[in-house]
Amino acid sequence: MVEGNPIDVKERANRNAPFFRPAFFADRSCGSMVNVKFVAAYRSAFERGVLRERVEAIEAMLASCELCPRACRADRARGETGFCEADGGLSVSSTFAHFGEEAPLVGRNGSGTIFFSRCNLCCVFCQNHDISDLGEGTHVAPEDLAVMMLALERRGCHNINLVTPTHQVPGIARALLFAAAEGLSVPLVFNCGGYESLSVLRLLDGLVDIYMPDVKFMDPEPARLYLDAPDYPGVVREVVKEMHRQVGDLAIGPEGVARRGMLVRHLVMPGLEEDTRRILDFVKDGVSADTFVNIMSQYRPCHRAFEHPAIARRPTREEHLSALAYASVIGLRRAGPH
Ligand code: SF4
Repeated sequence: MVEGNPIDVKERANRNAPFFRPAFFADRSCGSMVNVKFVAAYRSAFERGVLRERVEAIEAMLASCELCPRACRADRARGETGFCEADGGLSVSSTFAHFGEEAPLVGRNGSGTIFFSRCNLCCVFCQNHDISDLGEGTHVAPEDLAVMMLALERRGCHNINLVTPTHQVPGIARALLFAAAEGLSVPLVFNCGGYESLSVLRLLDGLVDIYMPDVKFMDPEPARLYLDAPDYPGVVREVVKEMHRQVGDLAIGPEGVARRGMLVRHLVMPGLEEDTRRILDFVKDGVSADTFVNIMSQYRPCHRAFEHPAIARRPTREEHLSALAYASVIGLRRAGPH
């Protein structure tokens, strides 16, 4: 599924249709499902003239990084690094049309996925630790990232799906400014771990169309053991409420494609049935009974999970079914294995 490194994408975009030429953007025949009634949030911000000032406010945060709750205060603008080990630049691991995401993101033509290197959580069980922990990827300029976004839209992807964007928000925001100026118009998906800074989220208010946070744990102990973030439960509760305040429940347009709203993911972990129930209770009572929740079963021990015997196995089928049944019993109307 991976289509090559980011430079390949840029070269292909240039070869197939010269960048920054009107003809590039006039061609909507390759499958974009956005119709005239939909206007992406960032497009509206661009047209109202507020996108640039948001970008500048976000970029200013790099000099003393508090882009996530770890608040390392590293001067990333000068190359210092903090917990996530990301420098001040953008690093992209891969871009491709993803057909394995939730159906409302995939549609007919796939979700335009961009994987960023490094991560502010670094879960011990990460399935992508070569990207998140080892930093596999290529440094790119914001202009390059804009080209990638435009190339994904041009091939018909229904959205731009930013995977693990939290620590790279300044470069992403600058790229969005370039891409919006050149006509990008599909929904922007912020696909993250749920460990975000509220001040950053407020700067993203009106720029993001679809938030897709994980909700991993409600119990501080597994959050400490497996994420090195004992404050994760308190953070993720506030983050999910703020995201929902901004975009609401997931709204799906014609042809079953998501346009705006929040989609929550929860990965069922072995032996943490009670914690899963606390998460589902929180989503139902603290957010909305109409929250679109993907209760996922694909956990498998990876990376350093084998150092923790409690999570060194897959969840059983019964554990996954129990989570689905509980969601149904408490009235989470849009929860399921999506
Ligand atoms: S984004 Fe990285 S450097 Fe910045 S506060 Fe979070 S972990 Fe620290």
